Amino acid sequence: MKPFKKNKKEAYSIIVGCGRLGANLANQLSEKGESVLIIDAAKEAFRKLSPSFAGITLVGDATYLGVLHEAEIEKSSAVISVTNYDNTNILIAQAAKELFGIERVIARLYDPERECVYREFGIDTISPAVLSMKEIDKLLGFESGSEENAI
Ligand code: AMP
Repeated sequence: MKPFKKNKKEAYSIIVGCGRLGANLANQLSEKGESVLIIDAAKEAFRKLSPSFAGITLVGDATYLGVLHEAEIEKSSAVISVTNYDNTNILIAQAAKELFGIERVIARLYDPERECVYREFGIDTISPAVLSMKEIDKLLGFESGSEENAI
């Protein structure tokens, strides 16, 4: 796989947080041939990336504007913030949207009650609790909209 280098022509996604979710997502996108830049505050976190990962890694606290500038966030096509802190993910998502005008912004939120607030700002959110609930419903056969469950 050809390593990706940032330039004006190539669209790339920025992932913030190289934890279990971020690293898997980065590996998967890179495997599909997408250009990815992944940021993590801890250098060791990048050990989770697969040896074939062809993107760029950047060590830094992404709540600092300097780090986002270094990532050339304004040139990215999508920003996905999946650190382990809701407030951090929201801060980064809002900066991406409001300061840098990025269209596709996704933030992970552990607290599902805050989801609706951020949707109003045009930030898509994913909540592990909500996704798990839906999956459990599906496994139990209670999935909404399913004809078998219609009264
Ligand atoms: P996990 O809980 O496994 O999804 O991992 C979350 C990752 O987010 C960890 O590798 C953290 O080092 C990283 N992280 C947390 N806060 C920040 C931040 N402000 N900037 C960059 N990475 C962060």
